[in-house]
Amino acid sequence: MNTATVASGPQSLGYARLSMNRSTFPSYDPQTIEARRQAAWHAREAFLTPPVAAGRSSIGRARRYIKPSAPFTSGNIHIGHVRSYSIGDAYARFQRARGEDVLFAFGFDAFGLPAELGAIERGESPSDWVARCAEHMTGQLQRLGYSFDWERTFVSSDALMYRWSQWLFVTLLQAGLVYRGTGAVDWCDTCQTTLASIQVEDGGLCWRCHNPVRLIQRPQWYLRISAYLPENDRRLDELAGSGSWDEVALSSQRFVLGRVDGVEVDLLGPNGEALMAFTPHEDAVARARFVLISPRHPDVDMWAHTPQARERLEELRSGGLERSARDAEAIPLIDTGRTLLSPADGEPLPVLISPVVDGRFGATAVLGIPARDHTDALIAGRMSLPVSDAVSEDGSENATENPPPVPGVRPATRYRANDFSISRQRSWGTPIPIVYCDGDCGIVPVPVEQQPVLLPLDLKPTGAGNPLAEREDFVRVECPRCGGPARRETDTLDCHFDALWLWVPVCVPPAERERPLDEIFALEDLRAWLPSERVVAGSDSGNFVFDQRIVTKALRDIEPLAFLSGGEPFAGCLFHEMVIRDGRKMSKHLGNVVDPDELVARYGADTVRLATLYAARPQRTLNWSDSAVLRCHRFLAQVWEYSQARLADAEALALADDGEPVKDTTEHLRLKLAQWCEKAVEKITKDMQGLEMHSAVRNVMRLFDRIKDFEARVLARTDELSAADRDALLSALGVLAQLLAPLAPHIAEELWIAFGNDGDTQTPWPGVSSLEPA
Ligand SMILES: [Zn+2]
Ligand SMILES: [Zn+2]
Repeated sequence: MNTATVASGPQSLGYARLSMNRSTFPSYDPQTIEARRQAAWHAREAFLTPPVAAGRSSIGRARRYIKPSAPFTSGNIHIGHVRSYSIGDAYARFQRARGEDVLFAFGFDAFGLPAELGAIERGESPSDWVARCAEHMTGQLQRLGYSFDWERTFVSSDALMYRWSQWLFVTLLQAGLVYRGTGAVDWCDTCQTTLASIQVEDGGLCWRCHNPVRLIQRPQWYLRISAYLPENDRRLDELAGSGSWDEVALSSQRFVLGRVDGVEVDLLGPNGEALMAFTPHEDAVARARFVLISPRHPDVDMWAHTPQARERLEELRSGGLERSARDAEAIPLIDTGRTLLSPADGEPLPVLISPVVDGRFGATAVLGIPARDHTDALIAGRMSLPVSDAVSEDGSENATENPPPVPGVRPATRYRANDFSISRQRSWGTPIPIVYCDGDCGIVPVPVEQQPVLLPLDLKPTGAGNPLAEREDFVRVECPRCGGPARRETDTLDCHFDALWLWVPVCVPPAERERPLDEIFALEDLRAWLPSERVVAGSDSGNFVFDQRIVTKALRDIEPLAFLSGGEPFAGCLFHEMVIRDGRKMSKHLGNVVDPDELVARYGADTVRLATLYAARPQRTLNWSDSAVLRCHRFLAQVWEYSQARLADAEALALADDGEPVKDTTEHLRLKLAQWCEKAVEKITKDMQGLEMHSAVRNVMRLFDRIKDFEARVLARTDELSAADRDALLSALGVLAQLLAPLAPHIAEELWIAFGNDGDTQTPWPGVSSLEPA
């Protein structure tokens, strides 16, 4: 939608006419008002990011990069997006109103399975489908009046953008943080692809097709996050201390990290073998009855030394593991036939290999302590280990005496979070910039000068296999090192990998976007805008944010983001919950989907935005009800009509004023009104700073009630308002418009202009000092 062509301009309503009276003021017409405001914003380029130029003083001005989530190009903006962007937009507008420089922009997350499946369903190429989606969604978001800097929007599947993924891949590869490995990965038979852990839903189902996922062995590219887990952990206290990370966001980071505290101890075998083992049960080390090793433990092959154990380990890696076999009752156990000596009494402890370790403690080795741990008790039972003191069914311990302390035990921490695969066997993704030389060069990264490796755009995936691998013109290539024949990697990067950098490019001025990436990372703009002051995203974004925090630390150490000394991309973080209806997740299948377009057409964007803010705290699930929409619509219509009527009265009376002074008996009421306004500004400022928009809306509604109450009390005393009363009333309504501006921006700016203010600039946030009674 081109907003510039929609309206004829703010003058056309004729606010300046003084003869207006109650019967002729314009009634609340959101469609007209919103089109006019959007045209005005477009004309005055209201939301362009202020340039980061030398000489533009940053003294006394804060720069705030407010980062909204990057929407998948899935087809439509849904009501969950409306909630998310209404919170972020209110915050962005509030900060602009306070005179701060704001960057508020996003990129579409366009690669990946959702877009590919959308294209398959419609029988078109993913690039066409994505382009149509981005255009349609942009139109929806513009109709909602969000104050994004559209000049900075991008689509992650454009070659200019996915070169960021290729650059990042090679950069991390050279730093040893991306590696090629083989191992068990989640695999969906239906989608014929590997899945990131974020894509495996509870119970082990594929996030897309909801069929059961298997674990298989396959060569994969991995992101090594393990190196930065301790720092991601350590920095959490700082983030919590900043007060800018809400509790939902912090707990999501703790959950993804999966920190387990305990102790570790060096175990020795009868023939001098050694293994370090962990346990969370510090005071029960002496009760260890066996040792469990993860199949991903670096030394596991050394322990599986019998042909039988080796075969079973191989089977475990390649044969696939049903999710249902991941419970302790059914999970594979391999008896290595070897033992280690108990550090307490030298008794032999059988050494077992089992993937049950991974999900609890990561790729490590642990002590099996049936007396303390229900899972360990189950395993001991399955292996028929003689255990007299196993914990019972109800979890109560059988042993009573305190075992003696064990020498050599030291505090230790393990993390459940672990390296994950970043490659997929799908065609709609960033090509991995790797070439396999037919000669002696082996695996060769594509040099940055030869990037981006372009994805053929005429691929039409069918949903099976990987069409890229079938394209000889893509696959056959010269080796970048020796010039001989070579083959390209035909896996693509999971879109989760694109998300690792998606938060950076909007900091780059559009004119600089095509520069080489090393020059882009040297731009002052990145130093000015990063870290992002606040990310506002759904509470399901915990994994994305966690991995973005990891990669920021890596790029800090590698150099490009060295200026982010804390290695944190986001100084603040707000995670909001989802929107549901009738207590259930919205779905086409249930027929309970709320269509934002329909609501906007009926009630206007201001009402829809206000309703999503009003209905629940961001941290609470919003159970959709039409009553919130009706309540907010009624409120806005009342504010509009009440303000317009008082304005018309004031103008009419100003003309007819005989100037006969009457005794002033309402001064105390005007003082009271000024105090109410001041209190409201104070409260709502605090609400907005804390992103408590639901509370801000309520406080704005309360102020409106108090303004009406003031008028009623004056009239109860004097029959009509004096000039001073009218001035006080109008000035209070002006403050109301200012406070409403971030929440319902179209109507608020119209009213602000109607009160005689400048409509060509940002409506300022009211300062408390400006509210002294006239
Ligand atoms: Zn699937
Ligand atoms: Zn070569």
